[in-house]
Amino acid sequence: MFDPRGSNMTVSQQDHFVNLVLKLLSNEEPLDTIYKTLIDFFEELNPQTICSVLFLDKNKKRFEKVYAPNLPDFYNQAIPYLEIGPSVGSCGTAAYLGKRVIVDDIQSDPLWEKYRDLAKSANVASCWSQPIKAQNGEVLGTFAIYHAAIHTPSERDIQTIEQAANLVSIILHHFETKKMVKKAQEQISLIYESSIDAMWLIDIEDEGKTYRFKSINDAFIAVTGLTRAAVLEKTIEEVLPPSSIPLVRAKYSEAATTGHVVDYLEIAPLPSGTKVGQIRVKPIKDENGVVTKILGIAEDITERKRIDDLLKESEADLIYAQRVAQLGSWKWEAKTDTVHWSEEIYNILNLDPTTPPLPFVEQSKLYTEESWNKLKSAVEQALATGGSYEVDLEGKSNDQNPRWFVARGAVTERDSQGYPTRLAGTLQNNTERKLLENNLKGALTARDEFIAVATHELKTPLTTLQLALYSIAKTIDGVIDKDKITSRIEKAKMQGDRLEALIKNLLDVTSIGAGKMRLELKPDVNFSNLIGNIAKKYEDEIIKSGSSLIKNIEPNITGLWDDFRLEQIVTNLLSNAIKYGDGKPIELHLRRLNQNVLFEVRDQGIGISADKQKKVFERFERAVSETSYKGLGLGLWIVREIVTAFNGKVWVTSTLHKGSCFSVELPIKEQQ
Ligand code: ADP
Repeated sequence: MFDPRGSNMTVSQQDHFVNLVLKLLSNEEPLDTIYKTLIDFFEELNPQTICSVLFLDKNKKRFEKVYAPNLPDFYNQAIPYLEIGPSVGSCGTAAYLGKRVIVDDIQSDPLWEKYRDLAKSANVASCWSQPIKAQNGEVLGTFAIYHAAIHTPSERDIQTIEQAANLVSIILHHFETKKMVKKAQEQISLIYESSIDAMWLIDIEDEGKTYRFKSINDAFIAVTGLTRAAVLEKTIEEVLPPSSIPLVRAKYSEAATTGHVVDYLEIAPLPSGTKVGQIRVKPIKDENGVVTKILGIAEDITERKRIDDLLKESEADLIYAQRVAQLGSWKWEAKTDTVHWSEEIYNILNLDPTTPPLPFVEQSKLYTEESWNKLKSAVEQALATGGSYEVDLEGKSNDQNPRWFVARGAVTERDSQGYPTRLAGTLQNNTERKLLENNLKGALTARDEFIAVATHELKTPLTTLQLALYSIAKTIDGVIDKDKITSRIEKAKMQGDRLEALIKNLLDVTSIGAGKMRLELKPDVNFSNLIGNIAKKYEDEIIKSGSSLIKNIEPNITGLWDDFRLEQIVTNLLSNAIKYGDGKPIELHLRRLNQNVLFEVRDQGIGISADKQKKVFERFERAVSETSYKGLGLGLWIVREIVTAFNGKVWVTSTLHKGSCFSVELPIKEQQ
């Protein structure tokens, strides 16, 4: 740094110099004026001297700027033509070497060999030159002192020339810095003014009690709809909506006390409408490190938020729609085997939604082998042809419940060569529909079987009946044999009864199926007697089948029942026991049980396997083959319908080949 006390100046000269330097530094004077003033000052200090300041060009090869007001013009004009080098006068050499060059006598010094005449014409005899260096040591130019006579510098002269060059370097540096600061400031204000984000500057007053708007940019006005006059020099309370104040105060105070940037979201009703802003506030410190200002910047995310909300809403709608339709969507990147599943896929497949989706090959464990093979070849074909597919899949489930799905997919993306890279599609839970379909199929088969069996069943007694009648006619035609006729008529009657029972059952199926099961309740129907009468009717048949009947009937159990329907219950259960009883003893039990009556028919016949025990109560369901036992599969269904109408229960306990026990529990209603 230049120190005037080290030079050969008087105190008043020193004061003058310091003032001059300060003035130069603080004034916005152009550099030309500054160098001229400096040269004037040094020349006044030593009136026999002439000073010059030279600056190098960008390439550091020649001097391009010359400040030497007291050297002749022809001399100054010659300088830019000279290329600096190891022996180009004092300045050209000093700039080239980066070292001070002292030439006492120009006319004898070899450095000036080529320029002696020029110097003579300019009337200079000695020239001392000091390089002017930048902060990084780079040579920028030279400061030179000329004398008209041969002159050797004193130590003070050396100091002066050194300090003068130093001062020029400082001034230059100062100006460079100032230029940079100005440029930076311009850039900042450009950002501030051209930013599409609202920006503002707040002064913190009264130790944080007052926040006052000091400046706002154009975007602030555009975004808020506020005018400059309504904002500048106003406190936040005077500008912002009251609902925003607590939040804004809290965030400004947080930024001021922590010294950190604070981000927050603000929703504010403004003259331009309700706006959502993503806000960032930055505390600004003064030279003492105290936060005195806050710079705010707000991105208007109103539209983004609206779109975000809409997106979220439609996502929620989609999830809901998928849930209702039990239809999930998926995407599969074939090359990387990356799978994406919607929430509903997890639901449909009964999988934990926090686990990642299964890669395609691992999906084999979801389906039966047959279904997986079907899916695999459908996908392979879609990949090969670029087409789409729809396959029915059966789920591999751990429990007994079968599950079905419909998988649909199509190629949705290809690479630059046209190879499919992405498949997308849906998976739908099809279990209910499949069950219905299967039931329907079952019902259709059952119907067809039923028609076949019914035709056969009705034909058999009819044929026997016809045979009996023909035979009676024949007997009458010949000699009348009373016994023969009686036995034949009995046979015909029995077949007639069978036909009637069959037709009754058939009629019941149609009427009950059409929802017409009506009870005709009568008071004091004697269940005990009713069983006795039916048992009597079946005596012959029981004997014929090789069975015997054991009755354990509590007498006189009466109630409010429909006797015709009670009879149907007993008849159906008893005739089954005869049919499936394997000629073994049959038991009939009847007893009271609290407010109910329990009727049981036990046999020791063929029994029913556990898996069929529930089914036998369904319409047309049979647990035996058509060839071994005739029947329509209707009796137990009718029993169940009647029992249900009575508000009772029916069930079976049975062991295959050991026998069955059908139990009916009915409430005893004495009065209607
Ligand atoms: P059907 O006897 O005409 O076939 P049901 O509805 O009366 O029709 O009986 C349904 C099925 O239940 C029968 O086909 C038979 O397989 C079974 N079943 C009914 N009663 C008995 C029984 N006592 N022992 C063994 N199996 C029986």
